[in-house]
Amino acid sequence: MSIKTETDTEYKKRVIDIKSKSFCGAKWYNATIWLGSGMTTSCHHPLPHKVDHNQVQRNPKLLHNTPHKKQERAQMQSGLRPVGCEYCWKIEDMNTDSVSDRVYKTKIYSELDLEQAFRSHSQDDFNLKTLEIAFDRTCQFACSYCNPAFSTTWVNDIRRNGAYQNLVSDGRNHFTHTHDNSQMYKFGETNPYVEAFFKWWESDLHQSLVELRVTGGEPLMSGETWKLLDWFQNNKGRSQTRLALNSNLGAEVDVDRLLTSVDGLTFDLYTSNESMGIQAEYIRDGLSWSAWLNNVIKIIESKKVRALHVMCTINALCLDSLPDFLELMVDLKKQYGRDYPNFTLNILRFPSFQSALVLPPDIKSECRQRLINFLVKHKGYNYLHEHEINHIQRLIDYLNIVEKPHSDAFDMEKLSNDFKQFYLQYDQRRNKNLTQTFPNLSDWFKSL
Ligand code: SF4
Repeated sequence: MSIKTETDTEYKKRVIDIKSKSFCGAKWYNATIWLGSGMTTSCHHPLPHKVDHNQVQRNPKLLHNTPHKKQERAQMQSGLRPVGCEYCWKIEDMNTDSVSDRVYKTKIYSELDLEQAFRSHSQDDFNLKTLEIAFDRTCQFACSYCNPAFSTTWVNDIRRNGAYQNLVSDGRNHFTHTHDNSQMYKFGETNPYVEAFFKWWESDLHQSLVELRVTGGEPLMSGETWKLLDWFQNNKGRSQTRLALNSNLGAEVDVDRLLTSVDGLTFDLYTSNESMGIQAEYIRDGLSWSAWLNNVIKIIESKKVRALHVMCTINALCLDSLPDFLELMVDLKKQYGRDYPNFTLNILRFPSFQSALVLPPDIKSECRQRLINFLVKHKGYNYLHEHEINHIQRLIDYLNIVEKPHSDAFDMEKLSNDFKQFYLQYDQRRNKNLTQTFPNLSDWFKSL
């Protein structure tokens, strides 16, 4: 007798819809918290909002259980739609059977926990089960698609050279100021949000949390990350929390210390890259390609990680060597196993002038063909995960069908003009040369 697996739509009807038409478990059990700025959100879709720095000292659970989220929980309990969750409502309004992230971000929690959330009083505080946390924005890289809100090296660029000039499209404000609100406390100053996190962690968060992912900046450049890793080593057996960390794995990252610190823990490492050699070093300013690759291999060979994940940010500049980069991923998988590494392709939408969609049709179409060839060559082999095949296919379709990076994006002429304005200044500030590094883009770039 075959056992029928429940579809996402069936799950939604059985578990979510009987509670309310807008219930989402993430509002109770998931958060991203930026401790440098004291901002929080429930999943990455709603805009972040501020945590009260006075109240959080009395009750550290306010890092997540803010009045704003409590109000949204009450709305969800009575079937109203919180405005901040517009991302999901838009998907659901396309078609009554459309499955939005609300379903995926709810079904990871037990039905008992979901029932408890739904029956709770809206003023109750909940302990988190999944959390992504950033201690500060310290980072030794200044990638072209990042900005000063997430990198102190980007802050230095703006402090030294001033705002990027002559940009008109949506990304312009990323590059015009130092985003000081992202780091409200100087290094050495007491940050009430960091203090509250460790207080909450020590009291009960270390027991309730199923997964903790530390991000940055570069989290391994932050003393607070090492303090947390030391806690795990000094308190072995007290917490069952799965630990994950995002790292750029640059030459400055102390990989040996990291591997000692995570010894015996369930640990996943996430790193970023999407192109090869000097092209990667151009896009991810601060990266040494050889140091990155050596660190990847060292971590895999240590056998201390449950999986090593490579997150590819698909932008205009990476398309030329992306297929070669994916071949490298396959070579590593063949040597070490399908999770060493596994990869995701995440399509960049902001700043939209760096989107792959600004490229001329012939360059996009050449990349599409190389990705199609890659799939034909590797699809039948089990070293590729289903999600990896789907992500490549999604990019092939995206390059063919989608015309704008997002619905409010400026027209292509303005985006390609910003592309040129931005990279001319980037080259000068960072001592780089786009046309030499990406010869396939040279004629097009000069024609802009
Ligand atoms: S309803 Fe959607 S946007 Fe809101 S918290 Fe849930 S998954 Fe995120």
